This record gives sequence, structure tokens and C-alpha cells, in this order.
Amino acid sequence: MKKRQVVVKTGKSSSSVVRNVRYFECQKNHAANIGGYAVDGCREFMAGGEEGTGSALMCAACGCHRNFHRKEVQNEVVCEYTPPIDSNA
Ligand SMILES: [Zn+2]
Repeated sequence: MKKRQVVVKTGKSSSSVVRNVRYFECQKNHAANIGGYAVDGCREFMAGGEEGTGSALMCAACGCHRNFHRKEVQNEVVCEYTPPIDSNA
């Protein structure tokens, strides 16, 4: 009697999390020195220069540092699935 061995190859499955960081409204208080509260109304951070340079951290629209802008982190799960190859096809 012959024994048959069935090898089931499972496909590769991997998932990775992509972090998307976005900066929204500027929240810098421009009236802090006079005891008031006033923001410049900038709605979204726009990098003032190339990524990796110091000016990339400054907002092109209002000139404030990126830290003054509201930060929002979105985690996006990316799933990759490679189905096993069917050799009988
Ligand atoms: Zn600003």
C-alpha cells in the first residue's frame, strides 16, 4: 500500500501598517504676549521647503513651525496576499 502525502502550499500573506501623518490647522496663539488668543487662520500645513531641510518644518502659508499645527495620525493596514500557484491548471 502506497501512502500519499499531500503537501499543501500556503500562499504568502503579509500585512504592513502605513502611517500617514498630516498636519491641519495652525493653532499658534499670536496674541499670547498680550494675554489674548488669536490664531492666524491657516487651515493646513504646507511644507515651506524640501523634505529633510529645516524649511520643510515651516509652514509656507503662515510661517509657523509645524508643531503649531494640529497633527493627525492615520494608520492604514495594507494586506498583501499572494495565492498559491495551482500546478494542475
Ligand atoms: Zn501659523
